Amino acid sequence: MGQDYSYSQPSSSEVDIDSLLLDEAELYADEAQSSYNAEPVQYQPDPEADEGIPTRCYCGGEPVVGTSTTSKDPYRRYYTCPNVDDGDCHIWKWWDVAVVEELRDFHREFRQLTEQVSESEQKVVKLEESVAELSKKKPVASNGFEVVACLLVCLIVIIGLVVFFLPGGGSNGSNESV
Ligand SMILES: [Zn+2]
Repeated sequence: MGQDYSYSQPSSSEVDIDSLLLDEAELYADEAQSSYNAEPVQYQPDPEADEGIPTRCYCGGEPVVGTSTTSKDPYRRYYTCPNVDDGDCHIWKWWDVAVVEELRDFHREFRQLTEQVSESEQKVVKLEESVAELSKKKPVASNGFEVVACLLVCLIVIIGLVVFFLPGGGSNGSNESV
């Protein structure tokens, strides 16, 4: 039950985005013909550049949020340009459409980041494994080194004893002989 619901949710939201975009395209066409609202006539549909919330108009101006006064979309907010009255092409986009696109982009980036994080986690696990393997090998190497060091110390002690006792024995012998 829960799985079916969660599975159907993303697909329905995809449909919502598509229908919103279609809705937007139809409204562009409607309001291009209509002379009731002068502002929405100033637009240049460019889906590639207009993805998400607009940050800059074609003229370089900073987009502003206006409120629709048409009977079809009363109080519906839209992005437009403060320089819209100069007769050139300026940005025009429904606010809710822009927000939905922005959220979709955010979801896409979030998914990519999540994938990158899981890849990094896998790398960390591999690194931890190789560190564990190295730390297993290290005691063996240090044990070998310790054995060699012990042997060297023993040799030095034996040589020291031999060197200490030989002259002492010799001197004792010479003292005794004298
Ligand atoms: Zn502009």
